[in-house]
Amino acid sequence: MSEVGRCAYCRTERPASELKPVAIIFQDYNYVTWKKFVNRKTNLYCVDKPCHAHDQMAHEG
Ligand SMILES: [Zn+2]
Repeated sequence: MSEVGRCAYCRTERPASELKPVAIIFQDYNYVTWKKFVNRKTNLYCVDKPCHAHDQMAHEG
């Protein structure tokens, strides 16, 4: 049985071989001081669609 993952942008469930891990950068808050800081996380995105670029744009306000 092959591994299945889900694209972080379009939420499509796909085999792991059709997804790639990409780091995106986003604005986050420190919940103690309420100061903004730049955070990053790695999500899975479709290899054949521009999901990563769309999600990165969605995180840039
Ligand atoms: Zn996708």
